[in-house]
Amino acid sequence: MGLRIIGPVEQAPSSLRTGPVAVKILRTAYITPDAKQFTVERPPGFKFEPGQATMVAINRDGWRDRKRPFTFTNHRTARRLEFIIKIYPDHHGVTKELALLRKGDELVLEDVFGAITYQGPGFFIAGGAGVTPFVSILRDLNRKKELKGNTLLVSNRTAMDVILDEEFTKMLGRNFLKVFTRQNVIGFRERRIDRDILIALVQDFDQHFYVCGSEEFVSHINGMLLDLGARSAWLVFERS
Ligand SMILES: Cc1cc2nc3c(=O)[nH]c(=O)nc-3n(C[C@H](O)[C@H](O)[C@H](O)COP(=O)(O)OP(=O)(O)OC[C@H]3O[C@@H](n4cnc5c(N)ncnc54)[C@H](O)[C@@H]3O)c2cc1C
Repeated sequence: MGLRIIGPVEQAPSSLRTGPVAVKILRTAYITPDAKQFTVERPPGFKFEPGQATMVAINRDGWRDRKRPFTFTNHRTARRLEFIIKIYPDHHGVTKELALLRKGDELVLEDVFGAITYQGPGFFIAGGAGVTPFVSILRDLNRKKELKGNTLLVSNRTAMDVILDEEFTKMLGRNFLKVFTRQNVIGFRERRIDRDILIALVQDFDQHFYVCGSEEFVSHINGMLLDLGARSAWLVFERS
């Protein structure tokens, strides 16, 4: 497969294969105006739990030290690894450069890590690209026919920004909920996830809540959930 180990490979706890390992990009595609999907080689024996992430660098001079965390979105048994990455041109950082990469270019993957793993049926709440850990978790549950009892609520600027809209709609049907903060379409209400929305949509606060998004998003949502009676031990979250 032409994989090259970049440095010493240490045995990770719980048999997770760690990098650094270089992988070739096999395919790229924009799936929303600013989210780019990367399909890359999967090193032999490379394992991760749905919801986990790895540090990623671009395998080019001047970029190998600039590592950023990204979450695997492929199904855990897929032959290839996949990432969905929101590009921030105004940060002049790694994602701006990732926007320029194509098939044949290489990434370097590091250790596998992450706080978000499936703990049982619950309510998933994502802000923008914060949905990525939920992609592989929900794909995994779908494959095992265990989606029942799970709901996904995503918050995006507009309908165009919803990541994997079609797939989630097919998977979850009425349990896929969307809120738009800036929708320029007549008939849509523009709003953020607030207390009233949570009361209307969640109904049962005695369940697991999975929350992922910006630091501000996660602390805002967690605060409201706790206030509404969610158990802190049942809050599973990560700041993206
Ligand atoms: C565990 C984890 C998993 C993640 N998984 C994913 C994922 O799967 N997909 C995904 O898209 N993202 C994910 N993220 C978020 C992702 O890591 C960041 O979006 C990414 O690191 C941004 O890198 P960057 O170099 O482009 O910009 P940054 O590193 O954010 O910024 C580079 C520089 O830009 C400047 N800057 C920062 N913020 C702003 C701003 N708002 N405006 C202007 N300039 C700014 C700063 O000077 C900064 O040094 C994850 C994060 C975590 C913690």
